[in-house]
Amino acid sequence: MSQLKRILVTGGAGFLGSHLCERLVGDGHDVICVDNFFTSQKSNVTHLLDKPNFELVRHDITHPLWLEVDEVYNLACPAAPGHYQYNPIKTMKTSVMGAINLLGMTKRCRAKILQASTSEVYGDPEIHPQPESYRGSVNPIGLRACYDEGKRAAETLFMDYHRHNGVNVRIVRIFNTYGPRMHPFDGRVVSNFIRQALAGEDITVFGEGNQTRSFCYRDDLIEGMIRMMNAPDDFVGPVNIGNPGEFTILELAEKVIARTGSKSKIVHRPLPSDDPTQRQPDITLAKAKLGWEPKVKLDEGLDKTIEWFKSVNLSDFRAPTP
Ligand code: NAD
Ligand code: UDP
Repeated sequence: MSQLKRILVTGGAGFLGSHLCERLVGDGHDVICVDNFFTSQKSNVTHLLDKPNFELVRHDITHPLWLEVDEVYNLACPAAPGHYQYNPIKTMKTSVMGAINLLGMTKRCRAKILQASTSEVYGDPEIHPQPESYRGSVNPIGLRACYDEGKRAAETLFMDYHRHNGVNVRIVRIFNTYGPRMHPFDGRVVSNFIRQALAGEDITVFGEGNQTRSFCYRDDLIEGMIRMMNAPDDFVGPVNIGNPGEFTILELAEKVIARTGSKSKIVHRPLPSDDPTQRQPDITLAKAKLGWEPKVKLDEGLDKTIEWFKSVNLSDFRAPTP
């Protein structure tokens, strides 16, 4: 049986964070969820509030935090383009000042800390699929830079705290992940298409729809993240966690229409600037070091996500608030 720990999850009320908290609470750990509720709903974690091994703290990680914990999963950061561009300076502060505050805390209490990094560190990649050794092609002054460069700077801070201060760090680079509890109005492609299809509205494909993404179901992602946290100490990453199944955005639109039985039509809208043309994880390292690979195929994951969208009341979800 694995040892029970006190674990901090920042961004723990968000889409991925709330599932991670659920899993860790279920495994018996003492879980502290920290969130400023910028992009999330309290309802994501209310079902955990009566558990004796769960605590919820409203806190913004751009400010220092003083806790005694064994492990930290740092997920706090808006992740959808519309959310992270809402206040780009705050997004950069969250990645950079948040990393400094949490790494400092982790150093003091000798905890282990995992950073939720992103495939966005590869920018609009010239190498396909993307291995961890690829250094990326990011526009440092574009609309996505607040997120991409913030996450790149956080990776730098993690590695420097590791090399200079001996902090036990882990870095996972997460590729597009979807599933129940993703914010229905986050503007991301899966949530937009499902919401539009269920309402019989036009499906908005940006550009020609030839750009690709590789979609990972949330349960696979959470399993990969936990395996990385528990990997031997000499493997700090970064490691790609994503599903190599690659689809064009047009293919995704057609799938969502077919699986919802919708009469929606596909319409084309302008492609946002710096939108990556292709993205697919090379997961050779995750397979070798973590024995991890995704299990849920896109069709199966979409069906579960569609069922969840049907079950919620969309008026319960609010836009991001500062
Ligand atoms: P999300 O927006 O649902 O969750 C992020 C959470 O962080 C929210 O609850 C939000 O309120 C909180 N937060 C934001 N700024 C904060 C701050 N300054 N202080 C405290 N809390 C703050 O997004 P998600 O999809 O669950 O993403 C979680 C993490 O995974 C993020 O770090 C994101 O960059 C990373 N990631 C996600 C994906 C994906 O496809 N979902 C892909 C790559 C990386
Ligand atoms: N996209 C789209 N229609 C939408 C929302 C997004 O065609 O209604 C496209 C977007 O231009 C991008 C892809 O879908 O090429 C994935 O977008 P998302 O915002 O989900 O994630 P990211 O670009 O960060 O991978």
